[in-house]
Parts: sequence; C-alpha cells; structure tokens
Amino acid sequence: MKNKELLKRACKIAEHYRITKGDKFRLKDNDPGDTMGFKSEAKLRAKEALTLGVELLAGLQDRLYAQDKWAVLLIFQAMDAAGKDGAIKHVMSGINPQGCDVHSFKSPSAEELDHDYLWRAMKVLPNRGHIGIFNRSYYEETLVVRVHPEFLAKQKIPRELVTRDIWKQRFEDIRHFERYLSNNGIVVCKFFLHLSKKEQKRRFLERLEIPEKNWKFSAADMAERGFWHQYQDAYEDMIRHTATKQAPWYVVPADNKWFTRVVVAAAVIDTLAALKLEYPRVDDDQLKQLAAAKKQLLKK
Ligand code: ATP
Ligand code: MG
Repeated sequence: MKNKELLKRACKIAEHYRITKGDKFRLKDNDPGDTMGFKSEAKLRAKEALTLGVELLAGLQDRLYAQDKWAVLLIFQAMDAAGKDGAIKHVMSGINPQGCDVHSFKSPSAEELDHDYLWRAMKVLPNRGHIGIFNRSYYEETLVVRVHPEFLAKQKIPRELVTRDIWKQRFEDIRHFERYLSNNGIVVCKFFLHLSKKEQKRRFLERLEIPEKNWKFSAADMAERGFWHQYQDAYEDMIRHTATKQAPWYVVPADNKWFTRVVVAAAVIDTLAALKLEYPRVDDDQLKQLAAAKKQLLKK
C-alpha cells in the first residue's frame, strides 16, 4: 500500500472516531466492540497495515523533530485493562525514542498536592519537535477525584473555592489551558479507550488465571470496577465539556485490541499529517557551504 493510500485510510478512520463538539455526545451511542465493519479476519491485514502505519509515523516524527516547531501531546485515559499501555507500546514502536517522552500520572505526591493540579502536567509538557505521551493526565481531576470526593478533600484548595461548580470550572479551565497550548504550537490529541464492563471482566479473569499475567492483577482495579457507572458518567461529562476542534477526543472502541491500535495509529498519523511537516530548507549561503564541503571531501 502506498503512503498516500495509507494516509487516506488513516484520515477516514480518525474522522470516524473524532469528537470535536461534545454537547450531543452520549457514551451509549458508542459501541466498545465496534470494528468499523472490519471482521476478525481483517486482524491479519490490520497488523500489516499497522506495520506500514508505524513506518509512516516514523517518517512524520522525523520531520516533526527536524522542523523543531510543533509539539504533539497525546493523552490516554481509560478504565483499567482497556489497553492503554499496549496501545502506546504498539503505536510508538517505530519512532525515535529521542523525540518522544512518556509520563504516567499516579496518585499525586505530597509535593504535587502542594500545588495547583496542572502544575505537575505543565512541568512535563513536550518540547518543540517532540511527541509527549500522558498515560493518564490532569483529566483524572475530573474522573477519579470526582468519583471519590475524598481525593478532593485531600487537595489543599481553600474551602470557599470548593463549590458545586467545581467540575464545571475544571472543564472550563482545562478547555482554556488546551487552547493556550494549541495557540503555542502544542497540538493536543486525546484518547478515551472505551471498554465494555463485560470485556473488562474477561481481561481481569485472564490476569487471575494465566500465571504470566498474574502480576498485572490489582485489587485496587477490582475495587474501581465497583464504581463502573459513576466512572462512565464522569467520562461522558468530561468528553461533553472538553471535546474541541483544537483538542479533540477520540472515543476508541477498546474491546478488540487489534482495532484499538489501528484507530490510535490512524489518529496520530492524521494529526501529524495535518501539520504539513517539512524538513527545514537550507538557504543559498548554506547550499554554497554544502557544495564546498562536498568538493573538499571528494578531493581527499
Ligand atoms: P497500570 O497499567 O500499570 O496499572 P495505571 O495507569 O493503572 O497503569 P496505577 O499505578 O495502577 O497505574 O494507577 C494509578 C492510579 O493513580 C489510578 O488509580 C489513578 O486513578 C490514580 N490517579 C491518577 N491521578 C490522580 C489524581 N490526580 N488524584 C487521585 N488519583 C489519581
Ligand atoms: Mg492500574
């Protein structure tokens, strides 16, 4: 498959799952088992396409790095076992590690709790020319913190500022923050890996039954499963309020790992391709210098 054809396909897949305006968004209208009509026989072809996609991505990243102007921030959010780590690993497998940084956001430390919630994210935003990946992000502030109010209580926010409008305010602040990033050439692209409760059960059972997967099992993840509906509501509200043209959400079906990876790769390719990245051009003086250097090299 030629790059042009691949790009066209990536663009079509990305568009299908991209949310740029959230007001009418309903999670229940999105099927976690969706594969855009591709059957499981397409799995092998998907793998081939993914290999080609990863090559295409590597070329785009090389230009992003050389141009050193844009930065790309990829945010991954999902319920446990939705395949965030696998998607990140597969899609980024071909790219140059020097131009890519991954950060995982865990429960905040004492130092982090002593600051506003965007502080720890701001410190690790990607450099120009780089792709930054957030495995979880400041969006946890509208998810886990919303589902478990005890986390909010631990944050040292002045009491009078914690009102019932807090989630609306957080959404608004995040929208503004992302607009600020986009106005500065940091392109934000967000992924929600949409898993069904049934498939999460199957994956948790696999972690219990297969010895090589035992290490992945966590009792804390089991406990969070008990809050499934609260999380789904929080995710829906988050997407409704923070999907924008500059910083879209991709709602990626996550019940079939092979398809999740195809959609994520397609969206990253589409995002980079839209930047029309070019290698920096050298001016006439530099061209003369190159010609002189070549002449000198060939003499010896
Ligand atoms: P893994 O695939 O390795 O399990 P993970 O992203 O689930 O990856 P964990 O260390 O298991 O990593 O979980 C991190 C935990 O930190 C999650 O439960 C998440 O909800 C929590 N967390 C992240 N940000 C915040 C926050 N701002 N406040 C409270 N908890 C948070
Ligand atoms: Mg975990």
